[in-house]
Amino acid sequence: MKQTQELSFAVNLMEHLVVPTFVLDAECRVIIWNRACERLTGVAAKEVLGTSDHWRAFYSKPRLCLADILAKGLAADLDKLYAFHTEASEFGHGMKAENWCVMPRIGERLYLAVDAGPIYADDGQLVAVVETLRDMTDYKNAQLALQMQATMDSLTGIANRRSFDEKLEIEWNRAQRNGQPIALILADVDHFKRYNDHYGHVKGDACLKAVAGILQREIFRPGDLVARYGGEEFAVILPGTDLQGARTVAERLRSDMERTALPHVASEVAPWVTMSVGVVSTIPEREMPAAWLVSAADKAMYKSKYGGRNRVSVANGAF
Ligand code: GH3
Ligand code: MG
Ligand code: MG
Repeated sequence: MKQTQELSFAVNLMEHLVVPTFVLDAECRVIIWNRACERLTGVAAKEVLGTSDHWRAFYSKPRLCLADILAKGLAADLDKLYAFHTEASEFGHGMKAENWCVMPRIGERLYLAVDAGPIYADDGQLVAVVETLRDMTDYKNAQLALQMQATMDSLTGIANRRSFDEKLEIEWNRAQRNGQPIALILADVDHFKRYNDHYGHVKGDACLKAVAGILQREIFRPGDLVARYGGEEFAVILPGTDLQGARTVAERLRSDMERTALPHVASEVAPWVTMSVGVVSTIPEREMPAAWLVSAADKAMYKSKYGGRNRVSVANGAF
């Protein structure tokens, strides 16, 4: 084949490749925008060929695509622009990245995996960058759903015990490093067995959902975590919070329960759902395990039980 024939064959091949692909020249102008790329983005080749408007196919505001970053040598922008990407040390040999794209033309958010590869002339000059795209939306959504299932309590929708354990370990270690206080609130629903016996398990489940909702609406600091610790027991981790602050939050939770007054006529304490609450805050010493905090909050919670329920108690030795 003559050189021009070879070239037109190569372009034709790329046009019909099933993988969505576009090619930029060294000045970041689109020189190829194949059919699969048209189908994926809803943007026709004639709209972008010869321009640097390819970003419009993926985003609603101007920003660099991976091929632009490679062509311009702007690896420093990768962290800002992509949820995942290969390291900048691999720069020059092509790179991979993944991102949510708003896809303005098709009006659908897609999670795209992109590969950008440079093409060099014999003299080493960059002449073009090829970007291929893979729609990973279904895979990503399945992964996010699994992650959600693994960290969320299915009944109440708040964090589950596993998230609690992970968060506590992270915050405990941070408090140890920084010499900052960390607080924990444990709240156990009073006479919940009687609730189930009186109203039935289905209403019991609904009640636990309502309690979780009350706890969550009272906790607004982004670093705090409300979790279902188990059964009818809930926990709140309050990083960087001293005893006075944690006690105020605990009292707020207890009194919101009182204000909401979910009926519980079988309770000995009051005709509505109440909670016994234990609070602890400490600046953890080295060697102290995170379990210390749970055990101290648990003892404080039992103090509330023995003291007549529907109250907040503070752990002995907490400061
Ligand atoms: P106390 O005031 O001493 O805490 O009494 P209590 O009845 O709340 O405590 P106990 O530990 O005797 O009973 C807890 C009850 O919570 C028994 C259990 O069936 C119920 N429970 C735990 N998890 C769930 C749940 O997911 N749904 C329902 N409906 N009930 C639950
Ligand atoms: Mg309990
Ligand atoms: Mg209970």
